[in-house]
Amino acid sequence: MKKVLIIGGGWAGLSAAVQAIKSGAKVTLIEAKNELGGRARSVNLRGHTVDNGQHILIGAYRATLGLMSEVGLTPQTLLHRCRLSLLNNQSQGFELTGPHWLPLFFQFLLATLKCQNWTLVDKWSLLQVSAQWFLQGFKCSATSSVTEISEGASSLVMSTFITPLCLSALNTPPESTSGQIFLRVLKDAMLSGAGSSDFLIPRCTLGELFPQACERWLIQRGCVILKGKRLEQLPTVATPIEQAFSSDPLEAPDAIIIACDATNAARLTSQLNPSWATSAQSLEHTQIATTYIKCNDPTFKGLKRALTMLRSDSDSSGQIRAPAQFVFDRRLLFTDNPGQSQENINKTLLAFVSSYATLTNDQISLAVMDQASKELGLQSLELLGTITERRATFFAKPGVVRPTYQVANGVWACGDYVQGPYPSTIEGAVLSGIQVFEKVIQSFQML
Ligand SMILES: Cc1cc2nc3c(=O)[nH]c(=O)nc-3n(C[C@H](O)[C@H](O)[C@H](O)COP(=O)(O)OP(=O)(O)OC[C@H]3O[C@@H](n4cnc5c(N)ncnc54)[C@H](O)[C@@H]3O)c2cc1C
Repeated sequence: MKKVLIIGGGWAGLSAAVQAIKSGAKVTLIEAKNELGGRARSVNLRGHTVDNGQHILIGAYRATLGLMSEVGLTPQTLLHRCRLSLLNNQSQGFELTGPHWLPLFFQFLLATLKCQNWTLVDKWSLLQVSAQWFLQGFKCSATSSVTEISEGASSLVMSTFITPLCLSALNTPPESTSGQIFLRVLKDAMLSGAGSSDFLIPRCTLGELFPQACERWLIQRGCVILKGKRLEQLPTVATPIEQAFSSDPLEAPDAIIIACDATNAARLTSQLNPSWATSAQSLEHTQIATTYIKCNDPTFKGLKRALTMLRSDSDSSGQIRAPAQFVFDRRLLFTDNPGQSQENINKTLLAFVSSYATLTNDQISLAVMDQASKELGLQSLELLGTITERRATFFAKPGVVRPTYQVANGVWACGDYVQGPYPSTIEGAVLSGIQVFEKVIQSFQML
């Protein structure tokens, strides 16, 4: 029985742990925080259980949906499924339409033609650009940006379709985002069968969506999970793992999987493999702020849909006036969810998401409150607070080079930033956990 040590209990570490347990390995998982989930977790905000950031998945995230089922969850009840929709509060914009059985090409064509506020020139420009992506097999040069591969798209199509799509998938604006990674997500969304392009939005807290059930599943199968313990250095012959945790001696592992975020992984590997550590450390990151607001107006019965696109805006000097790009209405998501157990979840909150807004929490809160009243016409707003994750996602710039799975002999890494086709997403993290363990197994077989 091989012994595997996993450092980090985010979605990547949990995904690797499930694979390792399935293969019959003896697994120990160490997590620095007191709860699992990493960058996709539940937090307490002024007495309410909310998420550290509103997450959105798509139907093409097969590895994630498969993993959820594997630990006994039913993704269909925990995720609200809706068509790919970039509609604003006036229901203007792009939304895939037509039955799921209709080939996606026709759904896309219908949706483009139905866009009310686009002229024929706008519609034609999107059809031309997307036909080019399709004909090129959703591939482009590694150094091209999303703006470059969208040449020919009208400015309205850029601002109301390509930019929001890029922001929701990669959290960065098109001019500084890798076209290659963007096209890979688009390809999976468009060509992986019925429902792949659907948005899937959690109807429960992020803790309930996977980490809590995964923890139970792992423990039932003998996995040792140590929470609230930060590993400061990798175990070596000179400093065996027992010394790292004098109270919890662990046996020397046959394989170590570092499933931390890039910064912590770089710190742990700086002596073992300095060039690997440098490639992890040199990745840039972008922030996401989530502002939770309650509407106390008794006449407010909720927004028209669970996800609404907003008009993010700056003034002529570049000062951000309206930072949020999307708003989620949790009332539409959380109602009647049988899987929900938490009592103090505030179901009536609106969650405003501001990507890459480099403002303080107070500035974001103020600007989003203003945006909510002006753009959505809401009154009697009560601010619960803003949670900013400064290093939410790695910056998938054109030509970005990502660290490899193998760090050194017997030492591996997984996480949303490690070499792979996906951007910083839950699917990227889960896939990396699956792939790293395949490599670990191969290395065991070669011994
Ligand atoms: C606000 C926000 C919004 C997002 N929105 C979306 C979205 O809509 N859709 C989407 O797919 N993705 C989204 N993401 C990205 C997604 O959350 C991440 O890609 C994913 O959670 C990364 O998982 P991971 O396991 O690779 O890393 P992490 O979640 O960072 O996990 C690493 C774990 O390692 C632990 N750790 C670090 N150092 C040590 C140590 N020395 N010892 C022990 N443990 C350690 C950490 O505590 C952490 O739990 C969002 C992220 C944020 C922050």
